[in-house]
Formats: sequence, structure tokens, C-alpha cells
Amino acid sequence: MSTVYDKYESVIGLEVHAQMKTNTKAFCRCSTDFHSSPNSNVCPICLGYPGTLPVLNQELVEFTIRMGLATNCSIREVSIFARKNYFYPDLTKGYQITQFDTPICFDGHLHIQTDGKEKRIGITRIHMEEDAGKSLHDFSDNDTLIDFNRCGVPLIEIVSEPDIRSSEEAYLYLSKIRQRLVYLGINDGNLEEGSMRCDANISVRLKGTEEFGTRTEVKNLNSFKNVSEAIEAEIKRQIDLIEDGGKVSYQTMTYNAKDKKTTATRSKEEAHDYRYFPEPDLVKVRVDKDWISKVENELPEFPEARRSRFINEYSISESDADELTLDKFFADKFESTIGFLLNKNERSYRSVANIFRVDIKRIMNEQKLSLDEIHLTDKVLAMLADSVSSGTISATASKEIFNHILKGKTEEEQISIFKKSEEDLSQVSDNSEIEIIVKKILAENPGEVERYKIGEKKLAGFFVGKIMQESKGKANPKIVNELLIKILEI
Ligand code: ADP
Ligand code: MG
Ligand code: ZN
Repeated sequence: MSTVYDKYESVIGLEVHAQMKTNTKAFCRCSTDFHSSPNSNVCPICLGYPGTLPVLNQELVEFTIRMGLATNCSIREVSIFARKNYFYPDLTKGYQITQFDTPICFDGHLHIQTDGKEKRIGITRIHMEEDAGKSLHDFSDNDTLIDFNRCGVPLIEIVSEPDIRSSEEAYLYLSKIRQRLVYLGINDGNLEEGSMRCDANISVRLKGTEEFGTRTEVKNLNSFKNVSEAIEAEIKRQIDLIEDGGKVSYQTMTYNAKDKKTTATRSKEEAHDYRYFPEPDLVKVRVDKDWISKVENELPEFPEARRSRFINEYSISESDADELTLDKFFADKFESTIGFLLNKNERSYRSVANIFRVDIKRIMNEQKLSLDEIHLTDKVLAMLADSVSSGTISATASKEIFNHILKGKTEEEQISIFKKSEEDLSQVSDNSEIEIIVKKILAENPGEVERYKIGEKKLAGFFVGKIMQESKGKANPKIVNELLIKILEI
């Protein structure tokens, strides 16, 4: 059924702020450690005392070039910093050092996969800037406390072209950005903890029209879920407004996750005049070609390339490779587990892939754990995979053993649990033993045997299930199948 909403198309551009994992701040030598006690990582420079001089952190420039190259940007050989003037309790020095009309990276793009097609999302610019402090409202009913540790922590801002057309596309684009940042080792990709933040610019227009509508900007979205929901809510708000005869005006909005609504915080009339001017305390940033090619040569293998390599090198399916390379740590652990395999062959690679895709993913989902909170070592995972691929245990038994070894705290414990369970559950390949079970199950289900014999061949699956169950997953399924058919066809 078509609704008024179907008449419209949404246009979205994202601004992503990502904290850089440099050791020190953007313009001073203070630590960027997130866990330090409040106001301990501060100095006259990041507090903006008069007479101090900032000095640019070279690592920040290098990290930004990395992200620029990883998103197909051009790198500007000479760029400058600008001063953006405003006062806020968490920015008592009265200005933020940022880049304005000469961002260091520009004109890039990324591809996302939607409906099986590649879509190009343009990246207008990536620039460097410093973060502000943090207001803490939860310590007292009447006061707000300020922690200046975050003042001067380096950020990059990645601004997309208005090429995104739906909340799903925004989600895919943001996932790609996050994946790039994490693969590059320059950000930990954590929206919830604020090391990545996203503003969404949103407008709507009638389908078929060229001209963009007026945008609003939803600020500070701090989870993937909020990004999707806020975009949906804002699109709906704008369409409802237009359908009621109103007009969208440029506003800054916030999203309230409780009632799933966007509300205006300020309009363009009240907007700041930031009085940008070139930062007089810093020299121009010069990046020569040699530096750019050095960074380029050191870029890691990106998920798309890794995916193809996994398919070729480990003979795993495309969908397995997709799942395994989505997250860098996951892909890293998969490969380091393969390094511990005793038998390196296609079967064992696929066993490892199975353990990761099925068992590890299940525990992560069920218990809401991240990969590093599952303490299974590469070695014990490799032992499990070896045991499956060599036929010592069945795939069913493997699942059970996996659950057992999860209980081991240390590697030694995990290995000893593994060895014991392997002994208990090792596969029975002895024909005579399996034959006894097959005959028992057939004797217990005479009705089904009758139906099978008059043509209901799919009942074979029913018998196999019963036999495997009776053998506690230990019977070798291949032998079960062979014997079952042989006995039934007599
Ligand atoms: P500002 O600093 O005012 O937010 P920027 O140029 O930094 O401006 O960011 C503008 C963002 O808004 C970009 O991501 C851009 O793609 C997006 N944008 C621009 N025009 C529109 C529009 N009409 N609808 C949706 N997004 C838009
Ligand atoms: Mg903006
Ligand atoms: Zn400092």
C-alpha cells in the first residue's frame, strides 16, 4: 500500500567525528588516556592560557593521511588550521583549533553494498581538529562539573556528500567508516563510549525533483541504533510538516531515544558566528609526496581484499568470508587460530570458519560479549577444529565440547577439558557398534520403517536424527547413513 511518505525521497549527509588513538594530544604533550582521573591530563597549552604556543602532533597528521588514503581522498600538500571562536563551559579557552577551507583530505569516496549493488558515497572532506572538555552532570543535583582531560584530544571529522538516501544506507556507510578506522588502528570504533560521534544532516524532497530540500542537522548520535532511528524520525517529522502545509527550516536537532522523536535545539538565526580566521599560532601543515607514499605503502589489507584472499587461500564460501572479515579482530583471531592448526587443509580451515561463524558468534550474541571477552585461546580452538576435520569427533560433538571448554579459565584448563571431552565424545566409526544402534532404532519405530519401505524415503532423516541422538552425537554420520540405507533396503 502506498502512503504519502512514498512520494518523498530523503537526502542525507553524515559528519563523523573520530578520536584519534595518538598517545598525546593534538597540540601539547598531555596524555590522551581515557581512564585518567579528571583534570589530570592538562597543561597551559590545552587549557589555552595566554602566551602559550601549540605544536602540531605529527602522529595526528599521519593518522589523518591514513584515513584519507583509505577513503580514496586526495591529500592536500599544504593545509592550514583555523580558529573557530566560541565559548562554552567545556571550552574555556574560547576557541577550537580546526581546519576550515583547506581540509587536509578532500574529494574521496567509499562504496556500500545495497540490494546486491555497489553504491558510491562521496566524501567531501576529512579535517583535523581538537576536542573540547566534558561536562559531567551526574555528580551533583545543582552543579555541573567539568573534566578538561578531553580538551585538545585529536579528532578527525569525516564529512560525506549528500549521497545517502535512507537510514539503511546511512547505517551501511557508517559501518564502513567505522571498519576503516578500526582496520587502520587509529580509532577503537566505539560510538557508545564517544570515541566516534555522528551528526546527521537530513532533508526530504518529492521523488523526481532535482533540487534539495532544506536540511536539519541531528547532533551527537551515539549508537548505530540511534543513527538509524533518528534519521527515520526526522524524515517522518519533515514529511508530516510539509504535508500539513508547513516548511522545514534549518535547525539543529537532538534525538530523544526514549520517545523516538527529534526536537529542535536552536535555529539558524540563533546560530553562532564563529568568526573563523587562520590560526596565528601554528605554521602551515606541509605533507610531501614521499610521506604520502610511505603511508600508502604501510596501509593494512582492507576487508574487501582480505575477503577475496580468505576465499582463495582457505576455500571458504563467500558468505563465510563476509562474516569473518566484517570485524578486524574477528578476522585476526580467525587467522591466528589457523596458524595453530596441526593439519592445514581445506577441511580444517572450514572447521575453523565454522567454529567462528557458528559457535563463537552464538556465544557473542547470546551473552552479549565482545570477542576479547571470550577467553578461548587460539591453540584450543585449533585443537577443536583439527579434531573435527580429522573425523575424531563429529560436528555435533564439537558444539558440545565448545560449550565445555568455555568454562576453562586458563589455556591449560581449556586444553585439559578439551582432551577429556574429546575422549568421551570421540566418534564411533566401528561398524558393528553403529549397526547395533541402527537396528535398535528401527525396531523401536516399526511404523516409520513400514512407511519408508512403501516409498516415504525422506524418513531417512528421521532415523539418522534418532540414531545420532542415541549415540550422543558420537556415531560417524557417514557410516550411519550407509548402514541405515543398507539395512532398510534389505
Ligand atoms: P555545517 O558545518 O554547516 O554542518 P558542512 O559542510 O560541514 O556544514 O556539512 C554539511 C553536511 O550536510 C554534509 O554532510 C552534506 O553532505 C550535508 N548536506 C548538505 N546539504 C544537504 C541537504 N540539502 N540535505 C541533506 N544533507 C545535506
Ligand atoms: Mg555540521
Ligand atoms: Zn596539554
